[in-house]
Amino acid sequence: MIVAHKNFGEGKIVKVDNENKHLTVSFVDSEKSFVFPQCFDVGHLKVMEQVVMPDVQTGTNLYTQIQSIIFGHAVGDAVGGPVQFQDRKERDRYPVTDILPLYGAHLPKGAWSDDTSMSLCAMDALINHGLDFKTVMENFHKWLYENAFTPTGRTFDVGSSCRAAIKRFHMGCEAEQCGCRGEYENGNGSLMRIYPFALYLFDSDFPLEGKLSLIHRASALTHAHPRSCIGCGIYTFVLWELLENPTKQGIKNGLKKAEAFYQNQPERCHYHRLFEDSFSSLPREEINSSGYVVDTLEAAIWCALTTDSYRDCALKAVNLGLDTDSVGAVAGSIVGLLYGYDAIPEDWRNSLCRKEYLEELGKAFCETLLSR
Ligand SMILES: [Mg+2]
Repeated sequence: MIVAHKNFGEGKIVKVDNENKHLTVSFVDSEKSFVFPQCFDVGHLKVMEQVVMPDVQTGTNLYTQIQSIIFGHAVGDAVGGPVQFQDRKERDRYPVTDILPLYGAHLPKGAWSDDTSMSLCAMDALINHGLDFKTVMENFHKWLYENAFTPTGRTFDVGSSCRAAIKRFHMGCEAEQCGCRGEYENGNGSLMRIYPFALYLFDSDFPLEGKLSLIHRASALTHAHPRSCIGCGIYTFVLWELLENPTKQGIKNGLKKAEAFYQNQPERCHYHRLFEDSFSSLPREEINSSGYVVDTLEAAIWCALTTDSYRDCALKAVNLGLDTDSVGAVAGSIVGLLYGYDAIPEDWRNSLCRKEYLEELGKAFCETLLSR
């Protein structure tokens, strides 16, 4: 995390001591320690006159953003779960208006699915082992075979490519060789779980090429085809822009940066609609909401650009039908960042299974990002 101080200029946070409320920052020619109430904002590159960081665990902008995306994503997943794979005609006849139990799977209201479970697997690995893909796969393995990282102690909603990749890992395949590579294996199974890597790499020291290469490798653990990797990259650009500029223009700026980054990548053509200025003007009939990675990313971004609140976006995403939980999760992560934690309906947030666990994991992830 880079910060700036009015007297010492830019510096990098090297240590956060929550117990004693001290923050250690490395400047070009010195290292200085500050007591929290006297130090500056950890917002990006802002010189602050006075304190705006009362508690690095729960008061920082980064902490709030992490909680916004975790809950935005999980709530979208949980709102969409009960109607997964029902088509649009069904949704038009009986639109979803609230968070409901997953009756078919005998799960309570607020149960999230693989989208959230696999994101938590990644976040847990990043907290405890940094960017170690083998640990990520080990967590996926615990999820699939040991019911870890689940809302109620039971694994459900496993995508075919994810299952195949984790099975390969189970059989001894190297973590980074497990992912599915076929053109017809471009489901949204990496897109729906990639955001912890985007957050982790946002403020890292890697050059842009290196960051995107790591996002592609994270996708490739289960989905190694370039189309899936690029989809994760485009989504990452959008999230990175929203972290600094939480507006709809931020989403559009992220898409522009992604377009420029992938300009020489042949697979980029599959995402061409996202790069057109008129994308948000497309009628609903032209937005597909299947589990194909391109459809899911398009649907999520289209819903974010064509609504004005978290609730409206999540419901619009889910009521497109088909892969409702994943479109809801990806859209929910975007508008979680766009409108902030408090904009996610409180009753939806409170109904999430294992809410305290999600909060604790978010807090630990924030500490990890601030203390590296
Ligand atoms: Mg799911």
